[in-house]
Amino acid sequence: MGECKSCGNNKNIESEFKSEKINKDGGFSIKKKFGMVQSFAMSLTSRGLTNKKINRANKQLRVLSCFGNQHVGGELPPCEHLENSETDGKYFCGGCGCGDRQGTWLMSDGGEYSKLDYPKLSCPLNMPGFTNYKMSESDEATDPVSRKYYAENVNYKELEKLPVTTPEMTEEQKESMERARQTMMLQRQQEMMKKKEELSKQDS
Ligand code: SF4
Repeated sequence: MGECKSCGNNKNIESEFKSEKINKDGGFSIKKKFGMVQSFAMSLTSRGLTNKKINRANKQLRVLSCFGNQHVGGELPPCEHLENSETDGKYFCGGCGCGDRQGTWLMSDGGEYSKLDYPKLSCPLNMPGFTNYKMSESDEATDPVSRKYYAENVNYKELEKLPVTTPEMTEEQKESMERARQTMMLQRQQEMMKKKEELSKQDS
């Protein structure tokens, strides 16, 4: 029986993560491949930090992290936090605590701008493709490997099999992002002023 080390999931995932399946593209040792693909995952993620729009490959990494790739013939099962929405054909992340509503749906494909399209987006499990991505631990590379390790080492051709679109944000969404940005800036200013006041009180 195996346990997914990135999420503590107790499901038996061993059969889906046999190392010979993951390693059989040949040529590279796991160590070398690990470094190469991991930096690919990291560079995609860091590019997402400055881009106004998420790029296709980064979105594919997010889709892989959330939905896995069994639906396109791959081995990775969906994330244990992936939840079916009450609305048919929609999914949301049960690990975020944001609930099931239109703004939290993780669309993987389609013309609608959705959660996975935001350039800056965090994942509770710090999975590849997300702004807060953190590399897997070394013990995640031992059989059965974790979902995160698998996603970090996925072959680019496998990633390309995941159908994604990168739709534009609607005007309404742009306005709501701008409002959120302004609220955040205001809160930061207030916090800074409060800290300054506290420091000047301590000095006097
Ligand atoms: S955002 Fe992270 S925790 Fe949530 S479903 Fe996707 S991979 Fe899982």
